[in-house]
Amino acid sequence: MKIIFYIVAGILIFFGVLFIWGAFDPSAPDGWIIVGVISVAIGLGLIWLATRLKRSVAGDTNVTVKVDLPSNVSMDTFKCQSCGGALTPENVKMVAGAPVVTCPYCNTSYQLKEEPKW
Ligand SMILES: [Zn+2]
Repeated sequence: MKIIFYIVAGILIFFGVLFIWGAFDPSAPDGWIIVGVISVAIGLGLIWLATRLKRSVAGDTNVTVKVDLPSNVSMDTFKCQSCGGALTPENVKMVAGAPVVTCPYCNTSYQLKEEPKW
């Protein structure tokens, strides 16, 4: 999907540059430089969009992990590794894509291990 953005962007930039180049010819119509600049701008915009798409997909994965976590870890078995205090999903924060527990009782922070799904 993303490759289409790059191909279209490449074509737009290619023709945009051709139009700008052609606009330097005295016989070229006045509108060419504008068409060329707009084509290049749209092409660059598509590349920017494609890089953003990649990032938003990665962001969605993090959200999914965050949503899955409370259902995987049931409230009664979810206890602090250090002091055994009962923790809530509110004590779990995503740090660099990994769930990190901060215990409100003993103030310990540790990375939550992923529970097997079977
Ligand atoms: Zn604790």
